[in-house]
Amino acid sequence: MLGDDTTAERRLRLLQAEFTQHERRGPGDGRTATRTESPAPVSVGVLDYINAAATEVIQHTRAAAPEAEPYAGPLPGLYEWAREKTDSLDAGRQQARETLIYRQGLEHAIEMGETGVIRKHPCPACGCWGLLWRPAAHRAACVNRYCVDDDGLSHAWPLKTLAHHHIARQFATKSSAT
Ligand SMILES: [Zn+2]
Repeated sequence: MLGDDTTAERRLRLLQAEFTQHERRGPGDGRTATRTESPAPVSVGVLDYINAAATEVIQHTRAAAPEAEPYAGPLPGLYEWAREKTDSLDAGRQQARETLIYRQGLEHAIEMGETGVIRKHPCPACGCWGLLWRPAAHRAACVNRYCVDDDGLSHAWPLKTLAHHHIARQFATKSSAT
């Protein structure tokens, strides 16, 4: 599971770096003088995105562990904090926490344009590989033409569902190994 932990955290660091980089552009930096008119939209969008992700982790953690003190550390340490505060809770809550962290890892990747991350997941309905990312729907669609819903449309999964299946497999492996 360690691989997934570091992935979500690493991606968050990258996003944060991207924000900081855009933030620094502006008057006074001669190298990027021609860009000073429109540096804001990207950085504000990324900042909003990061804030929303952090808020979700904090709320989720404090709902599971109400006695946890507010998070005050640097942002990328957030996932570690969430784990620390909930590591004595039952397996169901630990699984919910890992599912959230893993899903955010996928979201961070997609936010950075790395949509290929979804291809590491089999389709939850038919098990075939090769999901395709549909940006407008914000879902991963199955490429198997026989894998359709009641309306005859391709199954398309939110990241939440892919994360749920991925982490459920890990927890099943872990509990059968002990
Ligand atoms: Zn499928």
